[in-house]
Amino acid sequence: MQQINQIYINGQFVAPHGMELFDLHNPATAKVIAQVKLADEQDALDAIQAAKQAFPGFSRTSKATRVDYLKRMHAAVASVEAELTAAIIEEYGAPVSRAAWMAKHAANVLLEAANVLQDYDFTQRIGIADVTMQPLGVAGLITPWNSNAGFICGKLAAALAAGCTAVIKPSEMSALQTAIVTRALHQAGLPAGVFNIVTGRGETVGAVLSTHPDIAKISFTGSTAVGKHILRAGAETLKRITLELGGKSPVLILDDADLKQAIPMALQAGFMNSGQACIAGTRILVPANRLAEIEAMFVEHAANIRAGDPQDPNTSVGPMVSFKQWQRVQRYIHLGLEEGAHLLVGGPGLPDGIEAGWFVKPTVFSRVTNQMTIAREEIFGPVLSIITYKDEAEALAIANDTPYGLQAYILSSNLPKARALAAYIDAGRVLINTLAHEPRAPFGGFKQSGIGREYGTFGLEAFLEPKSVLA
Ligand code: NAD
Repeated sequence: MQQINQIYINGQFVAPHGMELFDLHNPATAKVIAQVKLADEQDALDAIQAAKQAFPGFSRTSKATRVDYLKRMHAAVASVEAELTAAIIEEYGAPVSRAAWMAKHAANVLLEAANVLQDYDFTQRIGIADVTMQPLGVAGLITPWNSNAGFICGKLAAALAAGCTAVIKPSEMSALQTAIVTRALHQAGLPAGVFNIVTGRGETVGAVLSTHPDIAKISFTGSTAVGKHILRAGAETLKRITLELGGKSPVLILDDADLKQAIPMALQAGFMNSGQACIAGTRILVPANRLAEIEAMFVEHAANIRAGDPQDPNTSVGPMVSFKQWQRVQRYIHLGLEEGAHLLVGGPGLPDGIEAGWFVKPTVFSRVTNQMTIAREEIFGPVLSIITYKDEAEALAIANDTPYGLQAYILSSNLPKARALAAYIDAGRVLINTLAHEPRAPFGGFKQSGIGREYGTFGLEAFLEPKSVLA
């Protein structure tokens, strides 16, 4: 069995001071595949010290130097794409096509940050002031298991582009990916201490990062509950905090939509990343007068969605990442039944023909009300709710009646109307007739989906502080 017993501090692979051993599982088989030695508080302190020492030198590097570093990091991560794809399938269970996209994305975000940095002007003249954007200091970067490699590289790219140094606390459940990415990033040959990677628990390493006075900035992606905790913990030292949290995204199918395209797209938006996606479109809002037709089409198209072996290219929904996550999703399916939702597709238990692993039946409930638990809480699994509306005003009211505001989808054949409705939706991104990603546009949530934005210039500025010099 693979042993992962090194962390990365001050440009070196070192044995953690921490002694706790943590089992990594293959979620498709539920078998243990590796053991990780977790970092502890002392390791976090050592990493912060290294990043602090590296900051004065790194923060004064030229833009050209940092563009070059980011391009080298991109090349290094791109060179391990195949290995990373295999690790994502093995320890996370992403279906092969998704895993391949995720590995490519981890490299691409570094190149995108290099391009953003290239075009960014750190100084401007405003009246009698020279305004300079100055790096914040040492950044603590905390990632979730549902896109660990991508968030390590994306957050690190923005932090380094700005001139910050970093301590990364990846998800402890993603240690295979982290080990591959760390080895690749080391190959890029940045100065020692500029980035440090310490895999440990949130309550230990994460807690040190969110309270330590030498951490100026936290960029966190994960659950809303932990995000709130980090915000409170960081208040004492007034850290700058970016939070990318959960979602309960609406998919508005307008009555003019071409259902042959809209229904498969709605299913894809809901079941992406096996439903373990913060941006999943989980509340599908449909015109009440077309419900019967829409229900029939969901049943028909859902039959093509295959849950099972993530190595099989025909699979679109892989297993849940952990047994805990599997239990959580099952609980919500039972709650949907108990609260009177109509089960259209799927249901409790393992998919037919599967005996091991943490698989869930891709599930669609219909005749759900927006007050039911399955419509209010983030499930983080392949469970969708169809909710009817009478008219567009009601559709908008339901879309916005949620504590979240990360993403929304509008499916319509009337683009001007869809654009007009988008203006009334409280969400960081609204996708009209597409599931595409725009890496230069800001990404992040309204309301309890987060604070701040990542990607592009907005993401870069999240690691910068303006300073005015008047003369
Ligand atoms: P999580 O909040 O449990 O953990 C996220 C990270 O925080 C992990 O590295 C964890 O170890 C760490 N952590 C836990 N407790 C901590 C503490 N007290 N202090 C500091 N760090 C701590 O989330 P998860 O289960 O890994 O990921 C799933 C969640 O992430 C979902 O709610 C999902 O919506 C969200 N998510 C959001 C986005 C987004 O961009 N908005 C993207 C992906 C996932």
